[in-house]
Amino acid sequence: MVFSESATAPTSFPDPATAYIHVPFCAHHCGYCDFAVSTGTEHLIDLYIEALGAELATLGHPRPVESLFVGGGTPTHLSATQLERLLTLITHWFSWPGDLPHAIPPEQWSPAFSLETHSQPPFHRLSPPIRGPEFSIEANPDSLTEEKAAVLAAFGVNRVSIGVQSFQPRLLNALDRQHRPEHVEAAVAAARRYIPVVSFDLIFAAPGSTQADWQADLETALTFQPNHLSTYGLTYEKGTPLWKQRYRGAIIPVPEDDELAMYEYAIDRLTAAGYEHYEISNFAQPGFRCRHNERYWANEPYYGFGVGAARYIQGVRELNIRDTQLYIRRALAGEPTIFQREVLPPRERAFETIATQLRWAEGIDRVRFHQRTGFHLDELASTVIARLRELGIVEDNGHCVRLTRRGRCVADAAIAEFLKEA
Ligand code: SF4
Repeated sequence: MVFSESATAPTSFPDPATAYIHVPFCAHHCGYCDFAVSTGTEHLIDLYIEALGAELATLGHPRPVESLFVGGGTPTHLSATQLERLLTLITHWFSWPGDLPHAIPPEQWSPAFSLETHSQPPFHRLSPPIRGPEFSIEANPDSLTEEKAAVLAAFGVNRVSIGVQSFQPRLLNALDRQHRPEHVEAAVAAARRYIPVVSFDLIFAAPGSTQADWQADLETALTFQPNHLSTYGLTYEKGTPLWKQRYRGAIIPVPEDDELAMYEYAIDRLTAAGYEHYEISNFAQPGFRCRHNERYWANEPYYGFGVGAARYIQGVRELNIRDTQLYIRRALAGEPTIFQREVLPPRERAFETIATQLRWAEGIDRVRFHQRTGFHLDELASTVIARLRELGIVEDNGHCVRLTRRGRCVADAAIAEFLKEA
């Protein structure tokens, strides 16, 4: 391999092909959550949607994207009417390239919208796996109704990610979740009627949980045959109620070895069930990877709108303010909503690309890495690669460097080793 003396980092960046829109409202603030969330503020929802519209208008003109992701918070905490308004704004400012079945124009179905008329929205003409654009939304089991699912589908939403977390009341209590297991069945039925792709989020290693609990949760999840599963070990984010309880000794976390065993069980069970383990925490039926998140893991640029949202455009990373009322005031007054702005130097950007791409099953492709960052991978990290290869943490076929199964179990530590070279 010939190393460049100094990297020629790309001076122009592609426009983002993906956008994230944040909806902060939740019925209840779960004890482990440190997202930008707002509870007991339903009176602000309509204003927030208009503020979001004002921030979207800073785009100046509609932009073509290949994926949209509406996350939160709980977007489905909004009423069907509020979802209509939100999606009208989003689909005004973002469009799919080409003539793809995207949305039923609101004037064709509002106000006389009926579930019967739209029980087969146009997106259903695309048989899964979905090709073309991906339009995802996050939902909670107790707030995804048939009426809302129909509205989502009418605007082209074709993927719903449901925050199931566990099917056991005891563990839902331990996680301080508000929904009950029985809500999941109704939410999945509503989603399946209108939205072709269903994903579940599950959490393992809740306080007091055992390997048997986790196995039972996975088995129940599999009975629903979700197209995609995200499995996360519980993290105690500083400042959250669960973190405080742990700090006081009021709860004892699951031992690390047990948590690792749960993760390894998930890999074995879900791959045996036909799911592809395509990212450290993510599993998909063939053809059902989350393409929106894959763009993050490829460290590609993205738009971000809403309170607390991040964006990465032209090599600049920006973060919006996290206070919902302040966000509304500023956006509606036409003032900047940005809280933090960082221009990443090329070398830092290259290491960030290593950190994100290592999470992926494909790992880091040397040629694409050089094209994207201007650096040769080995110029930056040959010593770490050699050391981690000897330890069986990464494998290297000359073209790509990727985590082994063992490496996935210690992914954070492996990525930290790379970042020490930055
Ligand atoms: S529902 Fe989701 S976003 Fe809302 S507080 Fe709970 S974990 Fe956080």
